Amino acid sequence: MSILAQHKYPLSSRHHVRTCRIPSLPTRLYCATTTTTTTTTTITTTTTEPRSSPDRLVIERPILNDPALASTWSHRAWVASGCTTVLISLAKATTGAAESHMWLEPILAGVVGYILADLGSGVYHWGIDNYGSASTPLFGTQIEAFQGHHKWPWTITRRHFANNLHALARAVTFTVLPLDLVFNDPIFHGFVAVCSGCIMFSQQFHAWAHTTKSRLPPLVVALQDAGLLVSRSQHAAHHRPPYDNNYCIVSGVWNEFLDKQKAFEALEMVLFFKLGVRPRSWSDPNSDWIEETQTPQITAH
Ligand SMILES: [Zn+2]
Ligand SMILES: [Zn+2]
Repeated sequence: MSILAQHKYPLSSRHHVRTCRIPSLPTRLYCATTTTTTTTTTITTTTTEPRSSPDRLVIERPILNDPALASTWSHRAWVASGCTTVLISLAKATTGAAESHMWLEPILAGVVGYILADLGSGVYHWGIDNYGSASTPLFGTQIEAFQGHHKWPWTITRRHFANNLHALARAVTFTVLPLDLVFNDPIFHGFVAVCSGCIMFSQQFHAWAHTTKSRLPPLVVALQDAGLLVSRSQHAAHHRPPYDNNYCIVSGVWNEFLDKQKAFEALEMVLFFKLGVRPRSWSDPNSDWIEETQTPQITAH
């Protein structure tokens, strides 16, 4: 549920601008890809549409050692605050269970939280992937970041830890902190701690799903192989045509069920007939989703 507000990719010295169409949305989307192979600046426009569209989405090709992929102290502070609120919730669940000698219910609540976190990650990821634009209030940056991820999936493996998690950590902080202050029930906190923790770390699980097996810690590979974390093969299907499945990125346990039941297609039909809005996944082929395979450039900083 990337669910993430991440930095835009930085400009490099050469731009190729083309249109990326979202049929039936009331806006037109523009994407820009960049390379760094020359010092001369060339702008090639292949559309007659005005470039001043208010919903223009410019996604620029990242570079391997891109400073936008590094963590800042602000990112680290948000991750620290998110972890603190989750740990407070976990402490309340543990101490409450110890005092009441009631362990089973908080543990079961935690299992439910883990399972529902995967479902939540899928619903959010589906929404971000399919609806809205860079100018959508609150979610615009995340929508832009996810479109960038589809074009250059490798960037997630180059993002530093806090850079990747800070947006979710901020959302978890604002959501869980009030719950920490108001509630003391160990069952409730068993659910909140595990669910919010899994949601906050879902972007790390997502990054691991994009990492080659040889570069992953053996424990992560074992958890992926056991189906406890979203597997590399399962998530790879999300980045292949028809680009409309395998949205869940915590454990992936919901993916097969949701895709077989065509749950997201049903939701898309409801939204289309109620609101007249088409999801991006109905557009095929759609350059918004297609990975660019050109080798990224490394520049010295
Ligand atoms: Zn996606
Ligand atoms: Zn991905």
